Amino acid sequence: MPDFDPDQIALPSGHFIDGRIVAGASDIEVIRPSDAWLMGVIPDASDSVVDEAVENAHRNWRASKWGTCAPRERARVLLRWADLIDAHADELARLEAVGSTRPIGEARAFDIPFTAECIRFFAECADKFGGDTIPTRHDSLGMVLPEPYGVVAAIAPWNFPLTMASWKCAPVLAAGNAMVLKPSELTPHSIVRFAQLAVEAGLPAGIFNIVQGRGQGAGAALVRHPLIGKVSFTGSTRTGASIMSEAAQFGTKPVTLELGGKSPQVVFDDAGDIDEVAQRIVRGFTSNAGQACVSGTRLIVQRGIAERVVDAVIARIATFEPGPTWMASTRFPPIINALQATRIHQAMRDSIDEGASVLCGGECFDTAGKGFFYRPTLLANVTSASRAVREEIFGPVLTVQTFDDEEEALALADHPTYGLAAGVHTRDIGRALRAMRRIQAGTVWVNRFGRTWDFMMPTGGFKGSGIGKDLGRQAFEANFRYKAVLIDF
Ligand code: NAD
Repeated sequence: MPDFDPDQIALPSGHFIDGRIVAGASDIEVIRPSDAWLMGVIPDASDSVVDEAVENAHRNWRASKWGTCAPRERARVLLRWADLIDAHADELARLEAVGSTRPIGEARAFDIPFTAECIRFFAECADKFGGDTIPTRHDSLGMVLPEPYGVVAAIAPWNFPLTMASWKCAPVLAAGNAMVLKPSELTPHSIVRFAQLAVEAGLPAGIFNIVQGRGQGAGAALVRHPLIGKVSFTGSTRTGASIMSEAAQFGTKPVTLELGGKSPQVVFDDAGDIDEVAQRIVRGFTSNAGQACVSGTRLIVQRGIAERVVDAVIARIATFEPGPTWMASTRFPPIINALQATRIHQAMRDSIDEGASVLCGGECFDTAGKGFFYRPTLLANVTSASRAVREEIFGPVLTVQTFDDEEEALALADHPTYGLAAGVHTRDIGRALRAMRRIQAGTVWVNRFGRTWDFMMPTGGFKGSGIGKDLGRQAFEANFRYKAVLIDF
């Protein structure tokens, strides 16, 4: 039984500027991933719409004094917003599920409460951090004053639309900035309702504007806009590089970049119960059908237990059934669109041409043309040069490599391009600590794979996986620029 009727969901479409939905010439078709149905069209913001959204945010930022009011005031508004998200949790969960890859059960249990909690965490930061006073000479005093940037541009991906947006909005707004956000053109709807609730909570109109559109048009225009003080981006490493270059050319703007990954899961032969380890590995690479930045897509396993671990992983994924996001029973969701499913398959085919062998999966589920569901796939006989090991595939594809000793394991774990997250499975604390020190990644998980609801923990990558952090105190502090003041008595 469907949890809800996907055809009955009213989709808030359009830009959101000055506290209102603004229609535009609609020319981007939005497809439902679960059944490939054309669910609606959205406008593609022209330069003049981007201009209007940014100028409106800037004007309202000044007029509303959002950046200079008592931080506690900002906290109150954001806390009310979080409460409204909770109060509209079911409505938001359906909106999220209908148009994205997030199953309704997970949207209810995870995405929406996580979004509200993220806003609460940063609301509570608003009045907890000040600047510094610096005791310079006896006849002068130094101060370091944090000041908001003004208008921050945020550009978000499609894989967890509301959660990713909240990681952007909450620290930006808590620090006293206004923002203009461009969601992914693939998942443009739930964010509009989210922004409406912010205004209902008391966020001054125009402090949080949304422009809809394609990346290379609307997204790039937003980055280049002269009134944008900082850019906060989550998406692929390739787009991140282009944004960084544009931000450098058009105003030397600071950037926070949360990019792609190719995270290893390193399993030593002292990792403990094989079934439990297999469960972590499976969850690590199949969550959201592998469409997660931190997906643990490289299994690096000690030779002596490799066969047993691989068998246990295959036994678990053999039971996976795909389902549309509006079924409460769905655990394994669709791929976002046909193009992405094709890309996954091509990366897999290329790896086979390079000598990889498919242990299971390697094709789409047969759903008679309804939606795009890729089977969880294991690839063996790969090397560090194989495409499936080198590149982020962004689908449920796990490569398997074996090692004989710790040195070899850690050398394999290190990726030449990416450094987002890593999992280490061992009961030897010394080994875990050595691995933790040695692995070049922004997050290292030991005997687990995946984050908890610890908003205090920053998240972000090393190397090609990004610059700066989302979440944690670090994300809040990155939304200020710091002014040094020296006063002679
Ligand atoms: P993407 O880079 O294709 O698009 C992300 C956003 O950027 C979209 O809104 C898109 O419209 C916009 N965009 C595209 N080209 C642009 C340009 N030239 N200028 C400005 N904006 C542009 O990424 P995606 O396919 O939406 O998301 C998947 C990627 O995101 C994966 O690589 C994944 O690892 C990454 N991701 C990273 C994190 C993290 O925290 N590190 C979290 C989620 C997703």
